[in-house]
Amino acid sequence: MRLDILPIRAVSGEVISFDYTLNLAELELYGEYPIPEPVRVSGYAEHRADLFLLHMDLAFCVETRCARCLKPLSIPTVLHVERPMADSVENEEDSDEILLLDNSTIDLDEVAQETIVLEAQMSTLCREDCAGLCARCGADLNEGPCGCAPEVDERFAALADLLHRGE
Ligand SMILES: [Zn+2]
Ligand SMILES: [Zn+2]
Repeated sequence: MRLDILPIRAVSGEVISFDYTLNLAELELYGEYPIPEPVRVSGYAEHRADLFLLHMDLAFCVETRCARCLKPLSIPTVLHVERPMADSVENEEDSDEILLLDNSTIDLDEVAQETIVLEAQMSTLCREDCAGLCARCGADLNEGPCGCAPEVDERFAALADLLHRGE
């Protein structure tokens, strides 16, 4: 949605709040659609002295897989955005931080989506010590050993060969 800050333009100290859901089910990241459920977007715009500030909270779940064993995982996520807004940017250096107002309005959907793409954690482990999958047979090693022979490091294998030859 577009937030119109015209109602708070004239008076410092005024705020205008918003609370809505944003559908990002079509958002593709790394070939997946990690946010099938709506994102809750809430917060307020504030007129403080000569500044307009946007405070935004994004609450959503990232549907992903364990990076090691591929088990489906859901990561509940809350991101907070706090950024100044202005009609124009005088200093090039500020242009990344400052959100440009377009005719007193700001596109909240765009800010929300940009923040999620940049900051949301899209990859994690099901648990810190996840054993992952066997590189040979693909079995989930969290459920116990798979029966494959243990991996032999090639450098040690060469060494073992040498030792055997010496016998
Ligand atoms: Zn795992
Ligand atoms: Zn195996």
